[in-house]
Formats: sequence, C-alpha cells, structure tokens
Amino acid sequence: MIKIYNTLTRKKEVFQPLEQDRVKMYVCGPTVYNYIHVGNGRSVVSFDTIRRYLEYRGYEVDYVMNFTDVDDKIIRTAKELKTSAPEIADRFIEAFNKDTAALNVQPATLNPRVMDHIEDIIAFIQVLVDKGYAYMANNDVYYRTRKFKNYGQLSDQSIDELEVGASQRTGEEQKIKEDPLDFALWKAAKENEIAWDSPWGLGRPGWHIECSVMATKHLGETIDIHGGGQDLTFPHHENEIAQSEAKTGKTFANYWMHNGYVTIGEEEEKMSKSLGNFVTVHEMVQKIDPQVLRFFLATTQYRRPIKYSETTLKEAETNLQKLRTALENAQFRLQNSKEGSLEGTDHAILAEFEQRFVQEMDDDFNAANGITVVYELAKWLNTYSESASIDIELLTAAVEKFKEWLAIFGIYFVGEELLDEEIEQLIEERIQARQARDFARSDEIRDVLKEKGIILEDTAQGTRWRRDA
Ligand SMILES: [Zn+2]
Repeated sequence: MIKIYNTLTRKKEVFQPLEQDRVKMYVCGPTVYNYIHVGNGRSVVSFDTIRRYLEYRGYEVDYVMNFTDVDDKIIRTAKELKTSAPEIADRFIEAFNKDTAALNVQPATLNPRVMDHIEDIIAFIQVLVDKGYAYMANNDVYYRTRKFKNYGQLSDQSIDELEVGASQRTGEEQKIKEDPLDFALWKAAKENEIAWDSPWGLGRPGWHIECSVMATKHLGETIDIHGGGQDLTFPHHENEIAQSEAKTGKTFANYWMHNGYVTIGEEEEKMSKSLGNFVTVHEMVQKIDPQVLRFFLATTQYRRPIKYSETTLKEAETNLQKLRTALENAQFRLQNSKEGSLEGTDHAILAEFEQRFVQEMDDDFNAANGITVVYELAKWLNTYSESASIDIELLTAAVEKFKEWLAIFGIYFVGEELLDEEIEQLIEERIQARQARDFARSDEIRDVLKEKGIILEDTAQGTRWRRDA
C-alpha cells in the first residue's frame, strides 16, 4: 500500500489511482533556454525514481512532461544570440535530453511542446472566457482569480493574504487588470516577437495555461499525480488548478507532489538560476561519473533538501562504490562456484529484505530508508559470498534483487545484457568523457560495449552503433 504526501491536503494519503494498474502522471518540465542546473536535475531524477518505483510495484505509468518552448527568457536569449525562439528551444531540448540521459532518466511517455498546442490553448481560454472566468483587457486575457473558490488551497494561503502580496506588484499589467490577483492567460504580441493569431488578436500564451491544457489533453480531465519542484506550488500550480477546474468542474489532480531544493554553500542557499549559485548538469556529468550524480540525487527522500558540496558528492561516490564492490564479490563467487542448491537453505532472508524495502519505499517513496535496506543487502552479499559453501540459487536471486532495486534509483551495472537505451546512455557518457579529455573512461566504455558485441562508429554526424552479427 503506497502512501503519498499530498501537498494539497498536507497529509500522507493512501495512493489509489483512477485505474487499477495505471498511473497518469504529469510533471512540469523545463523552460528550454539554457542548460539545467543540479537543482532542476533533482526534480527530474526524483520523479523518474518515483515513476520507476511505481513500475516496480506493477503499475503502468503514463508519464507526461512538458517543454516550455514559448517564454520571455527564450525570446530574450534568441535575440541575444541573433537566432529564432524555436531554434533556441530545439537546441536546449536536445541538451536536456542528453543531460538527463546521462543521469539515466527514462524518457517520458510524451513531451508535449507549447508551440504544438496553440490551438488547444486558445480553445481552452475561450471556454474560460465563455464561463466568465476570464476577460480581455487591452489585447491580453486574464483569469478572474477571486471567482475561483478554492484559490490558495494548495499553497495554504487565504485570498486576503494573497491580495496583500499582489497589490504590491507594479508594472503595466497591474493597471489594466480588474484585480491585482488576476494572472495572464494570453499576452498581446510585442513588436518583433513570435506570435499567433487568436480571437483576442496577435499574441502568445501565458506560462500557467500550457500545463492545464497539455495535462488534460494527454492524460484526461482528472489525473493521478501532478509533480514539480517545491517553488512551483505558488503561483504556477495554484493557477493550474484554478484554470483546469474552472473549465472542467472536476478535480484536476488527486495527488500533488513537490520535491525539495538542492542547497549550496555555507548558508545552504537554494541553488537557482536567479541567485547565480548553480552548477549545470551538463558540466557535472563531464567532471564526475554521471552515475554518482544520479545516486547522489536519487537517494534522499524527495521532499527533503539535499546539501550539495564536494563532501556530500564524495560520500555518494564512496557509497556507490561499496555497492558496486558487493555486486562484484557476489558475481565473482557465482562464476567460481559449481555447487548447486544446498538442501534446506532458508530463502526467507530475501523475502524479509523485500518486505522491508517495499515498506520503506511505500512510505512516500522514502529513498533514504530504501537505500539503507540496499546497503544491508550489500553487507549480506559480502558475507555470504565469503561462506565456505553457498546456495547458488539463493545468491543468484539475491544478486537479481539487488540490481533490480538499484535500477529503481537509476543505477545500472556495465557488463550486463544491454538494452538499446542503455547503449545510448553509455555512448553519451563516452562522448562526455571525451569532451572532458578523460580518454581512459572513454576507452573503458568502448571496451565494455565491444565485449557485449556493440560496435561503435564515430562519424561526422555523431557516434553510431550496431550489434556485431
Ligand atoms: Zn506546469
């Protein structure tokens, strides 16, 4: 029985998806104008780990994550680099895909983009206008926030508290809105900006509306899990609820999940673009083993902050190495053993490990406690591999379990049967190793692949691979 901490109710609730074996999950994706930093990487890794655990527990997961490819920052970057907004978006979507692949994040079921949904967005806004939840002012369209009864519930703020905050905002927008609390659904085009035709004139969508549109379009009017970083709770997710529920009259998401921050420095400040205290995933995966970064980000409970420092990264590296060694010890023993199953060996030990692991992870995906059970299994593997006689079946089953659990945290072991996507990841890791002039690692990856019958060809278009017939 999985329990999830729901930000909306501020309680852990028993997880009951709409369909018995299926989970509809939407996670807010990046605004693609720059490389993601480790704080953004944490969000991606957290929800990938949650998704993998749901899959481990037998659910099929429809995982949708959007790319915000229409935005002020993208337009500004395009101007600076003398190119178009779509080109900037394409470039950083590719970078995002590479960086997250290096972190062994599974591709989403779907990555909808705003530019492909303009018609849907216009139709959605039109319904809000027709229902009296939205109005046109100049050539913008705004959401009438006060009209939505539950506004503020997700972020636990009263409408009056919000009013005080909103009234201090300044700017052009404040003068034309009916109420300082109202937010933009559609923005009139400024000169020389990317824009689309609409019933309200030439313009482009505001940020919040895209997620309401793409989540309901691709997953249905009510979804199971909506996720994102803690900083998205207000106003982004609050606005998503207001938009979606005003349109459909139904609950938008049954479980709201928010991951905690990555902090940095003595003051343990939140890592963020605006504070300038960030490290990109792009540079990190060239400097260190990407699996260490993945392990570092995946093995803290997702709501807790993670302190980013050389020391904490080093700790993650040491811990991951211990796990790798335990696996090697067990595999070495298996390769050098000829005995069959021992009569009367008690296999209950594995069932006990399993029960504890699931109990910890079921409790709001407590990865910190989950990984502790994995450490204990590693310890057992080490000891058992040293015993005078072993039960091959038991040790084999323990090794399989061990690898399966680590896969939930995104950790894989080279030398196993490789799937296509794992090959792609290794190739990506090799490219990054070469860029970092780590030729030893690059050669090592080539050798591992060669041993598995994968032939690499470095071409002008990039690295291709084929299976050696
Ligand atoms: Zn969103």
